[in-house]
Amino acid sequence: MVAEVIYGDQLAASLREEMKEEVTKLKASGISPKLVVVLIGDDPASKSYVSGKQKAADFIGIDSELISLPSTTEEKSLLELIERLNNDQSVHGILVQLPLPKQINEQAIIEAIDPSKDVDGFHPISIGRMLTQQETFLPCTPYGIVTMLQSKNIDIAGKHAVIVGRSNIVGKPVGQLLLNEHATVSYCHSRTKDLSAITKQADILIVAVGREKMIDASFIKPGAVVIDVGVNRTNEGTLTGDVDFESAKAVSSYITPVPKGVGPMTITMLMKNTIQAAKAHNKKK
Ligand code: NDP
Repeated sequence: MVAEVIYGDQLAASLREEMKEEVTKLKASGISPKLVVVLIGDDPASKSYVSGKQKAADFIGIDSELISLPSTTEEKSLLELIERLNNDQSVHGILVQLPLPKQINEQAIIEAIDPSKDVDGFHPISIGRMLTQQETFLPCTPYGIVTMLQSKNIDIAGKHAVIVGRSNIVGKPVGQLLLNEHATVSYCHSRTKDLSAITKQADILIVAVGREKMIDASFIKPGAVVIDVGVNRTNEGTLTGDVDFESAKAVSSYITPVPKGVGPMTITMLMKNTIQAAKAHNKKK
């Protein structure tokens, strides 16, 4: 079996076209979605993510403002900035690019963002609402992954989904979203014993670790759907995933590439959340 490749960049492009039309209509009705991205320091990966987000916003017609602060920024001044953005009626979405410098408590910052503007979906209220299946902002990478599966009409209900990685931003929430879609979910992590024995049971295998090519065909049940979230920079400066693409492609039914897979979908779902935030804000007025 040779897998069909799910190109996240193509799906993202068509979703962005739809969003562009929606934003044009929203603007005509007086709603102008606005996202503020706060970038602290000059980490090259963070800068590149932020520029991808701004490009997507520009294309769709979402107003986006970038606030760049030095790496020496203190937690107190970042909290003050968030307070100002929380109170600014023209701002619908606030995103603080992670990771943050050591002197800033990441959790305190996440919790300071008004949940109604939490377009990253990391606030404990957003997570709790996701867990209890109430309307909320879904975290962008998991949301993008489920959207990719749905775009190919891949059955999730009753399937065994195995997630490798249990971070708060990817592993845990993607398992929860798949559980909400009625999958049977197993989580694997650095303490998991005999990883391949578990991954081989997966109908849907999601890999979010950050280790180049750690999953090859020997970890995959023939016919499984493989979603590679990992982004690793090789010594040659190229990007590669956590899955050995060529070997995995030969046994799976669907597979996502890196790049052009999950990454563009993450940014696209951020835009979707920003539009959702703007619409909800307007309803409340
Ligand atoms: P974290 O470093 O926060 O989490 C990594 C997880 O992998 C941890 O749960 C860890 O286990 C687990 N792990 C580490 N080693 C092993 C191992 N040998 N076997 C099994 N599990 C292991 O990473 P993130 O979740 O933030 O990101 C994961 C990857 O996804 C990274 O490459 C990141 O760059 C990428 N990413 C891509 C995005 C996109 O849009 N494409 C968005 C976000 C992330 P433990 O908990 O026990 O330590």
